[in-house]
Amino acid sequence: MSSVCIFALKLGAACALNVTSICKITRAFDAVGVIQANKVSSDKVLDVDFSVGCASKKTLQQIRKFMIPIRSLLVVVSMLACASCTKTPVAHSPENDLALLWVKHAAEYAAISIQVYQAAELALPGFINDTSWSAIPGQQHAENLPPAVILDVDETVVANVDFQLVYERPFSSSKMYDFYQANDAIPIPGVVEFIAAAKQAGVVVFYVTNRPCELIADNPDPCPQKRAVIEEILQIGIETDDTHVMLAGERDWDRAKIGRREFIAKTHRVIMLFGDDLGDFVPCVRKKLYGPCTQPATPTSRRQLVAEHKSYWGHGWYILPGPTHGSWTSFP
Ligand SMILES: [Mg+2]
Repeated sequence: MSSVCIFALKLGAACALNVTSICKITRAFDAVGVIQANKVSSDKVLDVDFSVGCASKKTLQQIRKFMIPIRSLLVVVSMLACASCTKTPVAHSPENDLALLWVKHAAEYAAISIQVYQAAELALPGFINDTSWSAIPGQQHAENLPPAVILDVDETVVANVDFQLVYERPFSSSKMYDFYQANDAIPIPGVVEFIAAAKQAGVVVFYVTNRPCELIADNPDPCPQKRAVIEEILQIGIETDDTHVMLAGERDWDRAKIGRREFIAKTHRVIMLFGDDLGDFVPCVRKKLYGPCTQPATPTSRRQLVAEHKSYWGHGWYILPGPTHGSWTSFP
């Protein structure tokens, strides 16, 4: 039982007693406390509890004459309090969701995103010139491959906070698809400038998203979501095409992005990764098993992954804030 529930019980009991002395109020609180602690009948508890301590100021007989209405009131108060404490699904309230409000309104959020992309832009020349460098652990023999960067899309390139604020829960990819058929995409602060700089420096830009390919009625396109993602990227002023956008469900790709990263690494030296989810950098971050994963992730395993790759953070790997959704939400 929650502390709020316990407090309500105690308060209700105290009011029901209509007593004036501290002694009586204290006894009432104690009585309810014992009821909750022991889950025994109120009759027994009250008999025991009220026969101790306060008896020095009122006789036991005087106290007992109040007991019948007290017991009844306590039972009613207990039932009401416990009913209010019963776990029931709480409707999501975007106007009270601090994560959404922070992303939507906080200047700090924009500052962090700009900080990430500007830091990455400053690091571009070094990673381009160091042909031994790769942001893909284990990538070898890539010295002569063209440099590339890989970015996640949602909350990394395009901001979905407006969708998050209005869609009716639960989430579905079709709801997101429908939203962007009616609304233009908004860029994450700093990303347009970074991609322009990367392209200017000769870096190839790939977008790897876990938006799934799903058939839509009366639409012959086997993956209409891919066209939607490309359109969103174009809307924020970045040129791209089918070759450089990769969705979950294309080819034999599942939600473990490592398959798509390794696919890109066959032809490019990947110098930077960008994302708002741990899965944008390493596999095995979810409870469900994807890709090479054989064990469900746990909060501990996820933190170990972060620690094991410490040297990459801010040095080839650039993570953006993602407080509104993502794989982390499966590990409250
Ligand atoms: Mg994302």
